[in-house]
Amino acid sequence: MFDLIIRDGEVVTPQGVVHCDVAVSGETIAALAAAGSLSDQSAKRTIDASGHIVMPGGIDPHVHLHHVWIKPDGTPLITAGPEHVGRAALFGGTTTFIDFAYWRDGASAQHTIETRDKDFVGKSPCDFAYHLMLHSEPPPEFSAQLAEAIQAGYPTLKIFTTNILPSRSGRMIDFGDIWEAFQALARHGGLAVIHAEDNDIVMHMYAKLIREGRVGFEHLAEAHNQLSEDLSFRRILRLAESVPGTAVYMMHVSAGTGVAAIAEARAKGLPVYGETLHQYLIYSKDDYKRPNGQIYHTYPSLKSVEDQKELWRGTASDLIHCVATDELCCTLKDKLLGNRIDDTTGGNSGVEPRLGVMYTEMVTRRGYSLPQYVDLVSSNAAKIMGLYPKKGAIAVGSDADIAILDPTRRGKVRAADLHESDYTPWEGHDIFAWPVTTILRGKVMVENGQYFGKPGDGRYLKRKIAATTLSGAPL
Ligand SMILES: [Zn+2]
Repeated sequence: MFDLIIRDGEVVTPQGVVHCDVAVSGETIAALAAAGSLSDQSAKRTIDASGHIVMPGGIDPHVHLHHVWIKPDGTPLITAGPEHVGRAALFGGTTTFIDFAYWRDGASAQHTIETRDKDFVGKSPCDFAYHLMLHSEPPPEFSAQLAEAIQAGYPTLKIFTTNILPSRSGRMIDFGDIWEAFQALARHGGLAVIHAEDNDIVMHMYAKLIREGRVGFEHLAEAHNQLSEDLSFRRILRLAESVPGTAVYMMHVSAGTGVAAIAEARAKGLPVYGETLHQYLIYSKDDYKRPNGQIYHTYPSLKSVEDQKELWRGTASDLIHCVATDELCCTLKDKLLGNRIDDTTGGNSGVEPRLGVMYTEMVTRRGYSLPQYVDLVSSNAAKIMGLYPKKGAIAVGSDADIAILDPTRRGKVRAADLHESDYTPWEGHDIFAWPVTTILRGKVMVENGQYFGKPGDGRYLKRKIAATTLSGAPL
């Protein structure tokens, strides 16, 4: 007896799109069977998915929930946490997200993880994991602790090459420490996840723009520019190349120069992966001039329309593997608090519409196949981040994390219909498919606009980076 049969859908499997039934037992997928071949009596319940797309739940490998942002007046803004954003994610077909745990000032890796657990455990309705995020100079025993953390199931380390804003300190890690980190990661099977910008170029441009009185946020692309991405990506990737076995995931690639640097590294066979953000794929620096233009922004900035073309080219040519959100959920008022190059609120609100918006842009507008789309919003993140095939696959034995999309759904994205914030950067964006049912480990979390999840339904996912990912084999 199965717990659930999803009947008659167009199922996106690792082998391609198959018209079939999916049977679920407990938390996992128990069988894929020819459409109609499993009787209704063989399951406790059935969901009719005829004419619908059945895909693995979305995976967002880059979110910041319950995150502290310092407002222009110096007071902290704490963004929405996993209870709230997880619910929105599930409404949008996303079942797993990966956040960050700040590894600060001499704390142990274990303390870092336990501190972040307080924000997530018992609260998140989505499954979740953290990248350890280096902040401030790592302690001398850092390499040994990193090794332990990797073994314990925390195998990704976030590193910044810039402080991003002139007012900030502590994020940028110097190259000697990054070199040490790469050696530990390579030795123990970890993955570096990098925010790369050239700090000298960025800070130089801040000083110059401030000197010239060009401080409006519409100038952000001049500070966080293509040259910065070019220099920093190449420096990081050269450093990684010098430590054999270093696998690197470049977060939020925003410029053509970043795509080109990844292309060069991959042409050498290096295990280098690229992520972009849905915002960078659709908006450009010209959108800063629109009303409330800050809503399109995160750091690094939006770039030119030409950069956007290169990012799209990257998604179709094995250079950009994941489309993430850099989620930072706040109100419109808070998103608009800053309006200068040095105080505009970062992060995006978008974890809910990501699957729907990307379906429109990839499948409807650009002719991407369903498997290509699913790779970019789910499977590749699972493969790179050490979650596959437990996550990111509709296959026997995988977790029953499933999004059912209705491809006849038409309309526009409206903030009022979402569950995230009082605004969305995607307001008015065309809908050509939308998740109508979301299942997390066999539990129906959202169905026809109704929410059945609860805080704590989500579980921490311990991970192990696959040998194929570390070696740079095709995903
Ligand atoms: Zn981020």
